[in-house]
Amino acid sequence: MRTEFDDELQDRLVRYAAIDSQSDARSATSPSTDIQLDMSRLLVQELQEMGAQDVTLTDFGVVLATIPGTAEGPTMGWCAHVDTAPQFNATGVKPVVHRGYNGGDITFADAPELKLSPENSPYLAQKVGEDIITASGTTLLGGDDKAGVAIAMTAARYLLQNPDIRHGPIRLAFTPDEEIGRGVDPRLPDDLKADFAYTFDGGKPGEIEFETFSADGATVTVTGVSAHPGFAKDKMVNALHLTSKIVMMLPQVTMTPDTTEGTEGFIHVSEIMGGSSEAEITLIIRDFEMEGLEAKGALLRQVCETVAATELRAQIKCDITPQYRNMRYWLEKDMTPVDLVRAAVTDVGLEPVSIPIRGGTDGSRLTEMGVPCPNVFTGMQEIHGPLEWISVQDMALATKVAIALARRTVT
Ligand SMILES: [Zn+2]
Repeated sequence: MRTEFDDELQDRLVRYAAIDSQSDARSATSPSTDIQLDMSRLLVQELQEMGAQDVTLTDFGVVLATIPGTAEGPTMGWCAHVDTAPQFNATGVKPVVHRGYNGGDITFADAPELKLSPENSPYLAQKVGEDIITASGTTLLGGDDKAGVAIAMTAARYLLQNPDIRHGPIRLAFTPDEEIGRGVDPRLPDDLKADFAYTFDGGKPGEIEFETFSADGATVTVTGVSAHPGFAKDKMVNALHLTSKIVMMLPQVTMTPDTTEGTEGFIHVSEIMGGSSEAEITLIIRDFEMEGLEAKGALLRQVCETVAATELRAQIKCDITPQYRNMRYWLEKDMTPVDLVRAAVTDVGLEPVSIPIRGGTDGSRLTEMGVPCPNVFTGMQEIHGPLEWISVQDMALATKVAIALARRTVT
């Protein structure tokens, strides 16, 4: 059952996962947290030791390196993110390897009430006999995306040690702050110098993603009229009342995250801040199609205008700003990077599966900026929580896909 990559993948994931590299959306710095650099500096050292070339840590916190080509071919990028999700405790991760999973419950030393089983994670039922890695119960594992890092590093090491394998030049990029949507610095495409790239940041073996949401962010600012509450008659305009009206007029039983799935988009009220004189609503708008995205933005503006018309003394401002776009818009013009990875998936005996992602990836931004960048599976499951797990053998399949991709860059 064990493959030639298993020991290395397991060792890398266990070591990388133990390093706290959580990002923080509230920080204004880049990278958002200094601890991410602990991961980045380790990768720099390991890349130098394995003989990768042009190893650098950019001043915006990305580790870059080259695996020189052994034949003429286009330059391919492999990307993974070093940060872990801010949504759950990621400090003091103690990875646990469950060798030869027996099909039953997996328990956690630091959280006796917690159980991982095929009941709460059905895909686990297919992993009997494989080696499963989890955390110890009080943290996430961080296989998102330390698994992607481990896969790219293992495939890179393998190619460097097997120069007889013909492939074009490969550029590695390990980015910070993906989880807070700040992974792709405007300088990255120029520094990456790749004709196309892949993020290793997906789920089950075979999954190749080239469709993501298109995303806008919106801020509605409501400015009322402030007055002493005791002497406010015919003077005060309470911003909170108008704010509530706006929220109440937005769709409640359709078009919200909790009422949509598949290819349906939504408007999500994510935060309200403020007081009676001024308040601010933060929203995110998501749809797979631009028309759908624009229609939802128009609906929000319409609601704001309607509420504004009920109180002329108030000011209601609605700002909608683009966040990222469905990478399919670019990839469908030239499907070569998608076709190449689908062929590589077939090469290792898997069936390629493509499902639209109800979110974005670093690849969405990279694609928009001119580097087509589909997302490749790693095996990660139940991410961003204490039940997160991954099979070492699934990671080995992704490693084989990376190597098959390298081979396919030359004819
Ligand atoms: Zn990820």
